[in-house]
Amino acid sequence: MSAKPKTGKVPSSAHQILNDSRFLVIKVGSVLIRGRELDEVNNHWMETLAEDISALMKNGVKVVVVSSGGVALGRKALGIPADIAPGAIRLEQKQAASAVGQYHMFNGYFKAFSKVGITAAQVLLTMSETENRRMNLNARETLYTLLEKGIVPVINENDTVSTGEIRFGDNDRLSVRVAQMIQADTVLLLSTTNGLYTANPDLDPAAKHIPVIEKIEDEHVQMAGSAIPGLSTGGMKSKIEAAQSATRAGISLIIANGRENHILKALLKEPDRLSSLFMAQKSGASARLIWLQSHMRPKGIVTIDDGALKALKNGKSLLPVGVKKIEGHFQRGDAIEIRTLAGKKIGMGISAYDVADATLIIGKNSSEITKIHGYAGRDELIHRNDMILEEI
Ligand code: GLU
Repeated sequence: MSAKPKTGKVPSSAHQILNDSRFLVIKVGSVLIRGRELDEVNNHWMETLAEDISALMKNGVKVVVVSSGGVALGRKALGIPADIAPGAIRLEQKQAASAVGQYHMFNGYFKAFSKVGITAAQVLLTMSETENRRMNLNARETLYTLLEKGIVPVINENDTVSTGEIRFGDNDRLSVRVAQMIQADTVLLLSTTNGLYTANPDLDPAAKHIPVIEKIEDEHVQMAGSAIPGLSTGGMKSKIEAAQSATRAGISLIIANGRENHILKALLKEPDRLSSLFMAQKSGASARLIWLQSHMRPKGIVTIDDGALKALKNGKSLLPVGVKKIEGHFQRGDAIEIRTLAGKKIGMGISAYDVADATLIIGKNSSEITKIHGYAGRDELIHRNDMILEEI
């Protein structure tokens, strides 16, 4: 179902990207969802979004919505004062608020999409569905099934049950994960910022808006760090991280100011005024390796020596002989992080052994493995085909 751009050229503006996109994930920030009152949905804005989405769908584009707002719309019922920032709300309060607000939010989408003859489906995901390969495939099939029927999935994190350690915490990241899972070509993050500026535009009158970022460099990350976080959970820093993860996986990401009604139409008309585009990097990686790369909580860590590092750079597998240390609790087939002796993460891999058997063979030659384990296993701890390296 993944789709190629209609033109053979590399698209280079948000207009072109949006025009060429065949499979789009649109993330909507909390501030856009809320109406004038704390527990009110901005129905009119939502209706204009649904109309724009319907127009895209008529042109054959598949659209998935990832929406925040569950917590925001439940704050009033929980008595959480308006001046407390999302990050300062206690976890159990957030979870309870989302149980109230998620209903209102989805109901808003359901009604807005119904008006244009589209069915909306509520999908609540937790990190485990996206990090566990089997669950990931299952969630993907569910989404494909909905999309094939012309139904728009409206996804949020299942905040009521996600516990602190296993939360995504912000939907910028969740939307990229969803895009990677379903192999979408573009992620559009709608919030209240026009994208990336050279400095904080509220503090520095000379700050310049950057409409197109061909490749994310350190300077861009720094610019994001100095920008105002806004009212959302993620802020600009999380948006840049989301952009890094998306573009590395071959997905373009657009950060846009979504305040206007009919925002998709407005964006097609004036992309440079309203948004920053982070261009997709070429990615030859398969869906499985992109899934592996985007893991937030690997089950273990393997620290390798310089010889192994060189071998990996040359496209070789990771052999037990080059491994210095193993940490974590992992089974065969789990995703583990690969680190250098200096502690730098250089990639991710799928372990051919569980932690106990892997620990027994570190530093040993592959020829000794069978004797140590008493069975003939793989020569490699991580096979080349089960590994994805960062740019090293
Ligand atoms: N899942 C949260 C909610 O629905 C939002 C997280 C975020 O703001 O990114 O309220």
